Amino acid sequence: MDLTTCSCRNRQCDRYGLTGGQARLVHAGWRHGALRLECVDCRHRFSARVGTAYAGLRSPELIFQDGVRQLAEGASIRATARNIGCDKDTVAQWLPRVGRHCQRLLDYCLRDLHLTECQLDELWTFVYKKEKHLTAFEKMLGRYGGSSLPGHRGELEGATAAVLAVENAYYGDVFEFAAAYAVYIVLGHVFGAGNKRTGSAAALVFLHLNGVDVDRRPAELLDRMLELQKRAEATPPPSASDLVSWFAGWLGGR
Ligand SMILES: [Zn+2]
Repeated sequence: MDLTTCSCRNRQCDRYGLTGGQARLVHAGWRHGALRLECVDCRHRFSARVGTAYAGLRSPELIFQDGVRQLAEGASIRATARNIGCDKDTVAQWLPRVGRHCQRLLDYCLRDLHLTECQLDELWTFVYKKEKHLTAFEKMLGRYGGSSLPGHRGELEGATAAVLAVENAYYGDVFEFAAAYAVYIVLGHVFGAGNKRTGSAAALVFLHLNGVDVDRRPAELLDRMLELQKRAEATPPPSASDLVSWFAGWLGGR
């Protein structure tokens, strides 16, 4: 840990907020695995972790760092927990902790910037996208026409987000699990088109693979998916878990 950025936390102290050579801090032992510092001027003691992403952390620092690195690489909460031998609920608490700290850090570092130019990566993507980089959906558009339907998340990113959302939540039974696939695909605008078809197919295939075959007329399924979309787009937006319970009830014939 870089101690040159630490400063006395006592607002009454003359050295409050001063860092580096201006701060007069000495080591004052350890508590809960965290180094404590003492201000030589006012004798105020505080943890060296105050104001960092480690503040109040109970897990060992190295395990926390390892876990956060894996989350940043896109590993799921469950996979990260398995890899580092921690409980998944512990890892789940790290995400908002690190997220909040990153936001504070960026707010602190990226301010009063006077920009004279800006890189147009996105424009390049739309104007000069090469044929071989087109997605299957874009190729279909070129061949059969239609609009490019802005607002969807892109097949890979959207589908991955939907799978993670399903994987990282708790479900009471197989119907809720299946319903979650449909809900997150519809709710997340995963694909440029066909989200209702893909979502319902994902739910039914999941049930089939788990030994449950849902016997419903196609027209009934279509009605249900249209209703799901209507509810998903309502204001105020519904919670995903409410939609999951509602759809699961229908799948399970309840
Ligand atoms: Zn002080």
